[in-house]
Formats: sequence, C-alpha cells, structure tokens
Amino acid sequence: MLESLLFEVLLFLVSLALALLLPWLGLDLALAVLLAILPYLGRNLFYLGRLTLFIHRRHRMTPPFPRGLWGVIYRSIAQHQQSGRKRCKRQVRFIRRFREAAISVPDALVILDRHQRIEWANPMAAELMNVHWPRDEGSYLTEIFRHDLLREFLVADDYLRPVELAPEHNRALTLSVHITPFGERKRQRLVIGRDITKVFHLNLIRRDFVANTAHELRTPLTVISGFLENLTDSPLTPENHRRPLRLMSSQAERMRSIIEDLLTLSRLEMEDATTRSESVDVPETLGSILDEARLLDEGEHELIEDIAPDLLLKGNRLELRSALSNLVLNAVKHTLAGSRIRITWREDEDGPRFTVKDNGEGIAREHIPRLTERFYRVDKTRFRTSGGAGLGLAIVKHVLNRHDARLIIKSEPGQGSTFTCRFPAGTGLKRQCH
Ligand code: ADP
Repeated sequence: MLESLLFEVLLFLVSLALALLLPWLGLDLALAVLLAILPYLGRNLFYLGRLTLFIHRRHRMTPPFPRGLWGVIYRSIAQHQQSGRKRCKRQVRFIRRFREAAISVPDALVILDRHQRIEWANPMAAELMNVHWPRDEGSYLTEIFRHDLLREFLVADDYLRPVELAPEHNRALTLSVHITPFGERKRQRLVIGRDITKVFHLNLIRRDFVANTAHELRTPLTVISGFLENLTDSPLTPENHRRPLRLMSSQAERMRSIIEDLLTLSRLEMEDATTRSESVDVPETLGSILDEARLLDEGEHELIEDIAPDLLLKGNRLELRSALSNLVLNAVKHTLAGSRIRITWREDEDGPRFTVKDNGEGIAREHIPRLTERFYRVDKTRFRTSGGAGLGLAIVKHVLNRHDARLIIKSEPGQGSTFTCRFPAGTGLKRQCH
C-alpha cells in the first residue's frame, strides 16, 4: 500500500520535474506544464474509464493489475468479486441441497405466500394434495385442494393441532395436515400433508375391536353378576360360600365398570369431533356426583365445595358428567382416608374452571405426562381394591378435547394433587332467573 502511494507520488514528481525542465528547452511554461501533466492525467483517465467499464459490464477483474494506487483498487475489487462468487456458489449449493431434501421428503410440502397462494410445492404434494408445482404456482391452495376442514383451518389461524381429512381427489387417503407460519412477520405458511392412511385404518380396527369385545362381554357379565347376587342372597347358600361369592361379585362389578369405561372411550372416539352443545347445569351435576362420592366414600374423606351456583357451561351434558365425576371419584379412590378434597367450579377472565384439589399422597413427576394414556396407572398394585383400570383420565382428556378445554395436572409426592379443567372463555353461561 505504502509502496503504491510512493509510486504515485514519484510519478507526480516526475511529471512536475518535466514541466520545470521543458521551459529550459525554450517552451512556453503553460505549454510545458500541460505537456508534462498530460500523460499523468491520461493514465488516470484510462484506468478510471476501464474501472467504470468493468463495473458497468460486471466483468471479472483479472491480473495483471496496474501499478500504484490503481493497482490497489483493482486488486481489492478482484478480491471482493472472488469472495462474492464463493458466497454465491455456497448459497446455490445450499439451496440445491435443500431442494433435494424437500423433494425426497415423503410428506407433501406446500409454501403459501401471505395471501395463501401457492409459491412452491414438492413432488409429493401432487400425489397427496393434488398441488402440481410449477403448474399451480400463484393459485389459491383452497381452490386446488378443496376441503371445508382445510379452509376453516387456514382461516382460524390456530395451528396447534393438525387436522385429519380425506382429500377430495383421492378419498381412500387420510391426511394429517399441519400448518406452520414462517417468514417475515410470520405471514407465510408451510403446509405439511402426511399420509396417515395406514395408522388411521389400524386405529379403526383397534377401536372397533375394543368396542365390539366390550359390547359382547356386557351381556354374559350381567348374567354372571345376577346369578352371583342371587346366590349370595339365597338362604340355601352355605355360610362358608358367602365370602367367595361376595368377592366374585365385586370383581364382576369391577369388570363391568372397566367395560363401561371402554365403551365410553370408544363412543367418544367414534362420534364426530364436534359435540352436541347444550346448556349444562354444572352445579346440579356436581351435586349428584358429590352424593355418589359421599356414598362411595362412607365419610372417610372431607369434601369441601366451592361451587358457583349460577354458572352453567356450554357443552355435552353426558360427556361432561363423565369427565367431572372421574376427577372427583379419583380423588376419593386414590387418596387415603382422612384426606381433604376441595372441589371448585368458578369463572375468571380466562373462562370457567373446574378444579379438584386433594392433600393426598401426590404423584411423582415422571408419571404426570402419562396419566391420560389408556390403562396407565401409577402404582399397579397399591390400589388394587379401588377397581381402577387406568381409563378414567383418558376419558377426561377426550371429553375436554372435544370441548376445546385443557386438563392441567399439578402434583407432588407428599403434597397432594390438583386436577384443573380449563374451559375456553365464552363457554360459561349465567343461570337465567325466572
Ligand atoms: P383409574 O381408573 O386407575 O382411576 P385414571 O386414568 O383415572 O385411572 O387415573 C390414572 C392413575 O392416576 C390412577 O391409577 C392413579 O394412580 C393416578 N391418580 C389419578 N387421580 C389421582 C389423585 N387424585 N391422586 C393420586 N393419584 C391419582
């Protein structure tokens, strides 16, 4: 750099010396200065013009570079061009690899612009969602992939849960469609369609199998229970047979309740996701649930009620009764005698809230996320006598899902448990006074 600067200075000084020498040879001073400076100016003009041309035509700067400061400028631009080219190549390679990955994904991927028009789609989108890219670029997704559920899903702007649907172009398919907002201010959408046909059919088979088996077991069990009851009560039954008969009766009753739970679960899964909505008198329902709980409990627990008497709920009466009673009866079944159970039904700014809080043994943290799985029980031996099969909380979760509500479980060993159902704001109703 310093060397180039010195070269430029030297060049200038030589021109100047020439300009001073020329008048000695009899030339006019002005003409001499002009003659001496002209090559210097010409050189600068030449390199400036060349640079302008290079930049204008986007030519690549290659050596040899001129000497002096122009050389520094030319070399810097060449280096800059080279690193820019490398960056560009890297980007192209990255985009190509990303495209290849997106193309080989077994799911349909569709990118929508902020107006929900198709920008890009991978080949799988043609098979699963009937979106052919680039043919359909710029079209609205809902015009190509017509389905009411998808239209509602896109408009609702609530993409937490995927929707499952059978596309119009191929009814044999079952798709699970996820939507993820991305891009500037999250206004673009990535739509992912996954083929879940196999899982869906397997689920149907499992559901039907469980429902049919439970249904078929119901009648023989009723007959067995009836005979066992008759035999237990009969004066002809020998006294030493009564205890085993009573035990058989109670186990038959346990089986009956498991079968009823299985049937409830199957029904919840089979029926349409939208529940029949009516005004449910929760205080009245809770009254009868608490009567049942007191009967089962025989005064062993302290049941405290904090129930808003005029707060009703929009929903399905039978389903809600089943969910609320499962939570209350669980607190009675899974806590030791003498425990305190508080039942709260109130509304706050987030919506109606039903809480069952006990000061029982509590549940270890690792079990909490699994409690709502079917047949999941914390301690398979501890409450053998309680008759629980681990289906109650699965029913609760299903019912709450169908009411767009959430189940929040808080528990710590030794501190007790709190089960809260949070219903969406606006679902609480005031009792009308007549
Ligand atoms: P179950 O039919 O066994 O009651 P649930 O699905 O209702 O099945 O509950 C799953 C498990 O969660 C129960 O087996 C029990 O271990 C635990 N559980 C539920 N409620 C409580 C509670 N209030 N206190 C302690 N454990 C509980």
